Amino acid sequence: MPHQNLIEKYAKLAVEIGANVQKDQMVVIRSSTETTALARALTEAAYKAGAKRVHVNWGDDYVSRLGLEHMSLETLQNIPEWVVEQSKYALEEGACFISITSPIPGLNAGIDPVKMQQSGLAAMKKLGFFQAHMMANKAQWTVIAAPNAVWAQKVFPDKAADDAVEALWDAILKACHVTEDNDPVDAWAQHNKTLAAHNAKLNDHQFDALHFSNSLGTDFTLRLVDNHVWAGGSETTGTGVRFNPNIPTEESFTIPHKHGANGRVYATKPLNYQGNLIEGFWLEFKEGEAVDFGAEKAEDSLRSLLEFDEGSRYLGEIALVSHYSPISQSGILFLNTLFDENASCHMALGRAYPMNVKDGVNMDEKSLEAAGANLSKTHVDFMFGSADMKIVGIHKDGSERIIFDKGEFVF
Ligand code: ZN
Ligand code: ZN
Repeated sequence: MPHQNLIEKYAKLAVEIGANVQKDQMVVIRSSTETTALARALTEAAYKAGAKRVHVNWGDDYVSRLGLEHMSLETLQNIPEWVVEQSKYALEEGACFISITSPIPGLNAGIDPVKMQQSGLAAMKKLGFFQAHMMANKAQWTVIAAPNAVWAQKVFPDKAADDAVEALWDAILKACHVTEDNDPVDAWAQHNKTLAAHNAKLNDHQFDALHFSNSLGTDFTLRLVDNHVWAGGSETTGTGVRFNPNIPTEESFTIPHKHGANGRVYATKPLNYQGNLIEGFWLEFKEGEAVDFGAEKAEDSLRSLLEFDEGSRYLGEIALVSHYSPISQSGILFLNTLFDENASCHMALGRAYPMNVKDGVNMDEKSLEAAGANLSKTHVDFMFGSADMKIVGIHKDGSERIIFDKGEFVF
């Protein structure tokens, strides 16, 4: 464990900049049993910030795995009403949400991917209203990370468990701009300004399409939705409260047109999907749909992701990240999307964010679909950026502008 002082700074950052807890607001924290110390620090920071009630939803990934192994698919698909009611209650109370992610890589190896997919789908059917609420920024929410020993030793295989956890804590805190001698809340106010300036430039250009290429073989064109909005850094709820959905974040992201993807894209980092590591994979798109794919490892998991629902074969997000972001420069493969997506340009299969279209948060699903947004009950990011990534923006009149050269913004 790092010094308690740093844990408290990190918790304060998540509460004040991440969720931006308001006076008398209910706070829901999602934590696993691996991250109790951080959950307690968050709880204390939230009460200090004026929270009315802090509720911690504890989970245990090992217990969940046993459930996947032993429960019948029928039982797994039967989501109890009280689970639904718990989420509804928090939404009705106007709660904000802080999730601690602490994945255990490989934990679900050996579980039938179809069983996982079907039970995941059943949960999303019942709890889709919750995800839609978050993705439309109707409440403040934030995701931060904390290590567990299994994850830490996957990231630092040469270290003993305790040292690996220490090293991963160190890497996480550095990536989140939390140091002994700074005020991370101030640092993030500045960081948010920088990201906002980037988004403003991209928004001014309103590129019709982006073309991506690198020496790995990525050769890929992506049309964007008309009136798309580039976002990243802090966001604002419908009621005007600023918050940072992800800590850390380095991305500028927007919405591709559902039918606008053509060409082949090679992933540059493994994807941890439902506890399985998909490695060395590529996807071939035609008019938006992933029509072909391949992977060196866990191809079945990639197939199960693509077959999750109709929308999981289409893209919902495109994000630009400099290859020279601090996380990229650390050279650490965190095996966690929250960090790795900030090391690299990425895209997501599945649901688009309504806020990436002008007035999108006020649109119903039909209008979003008509605007070109992909709808799905999943959203999975994968990384394809590289040191030699070139990105050309194409305006509606055909004129071009180089956005990225050698993995970095050049405009
Ligand atoms: Zn992203
Ligand atoms: Zn994403």
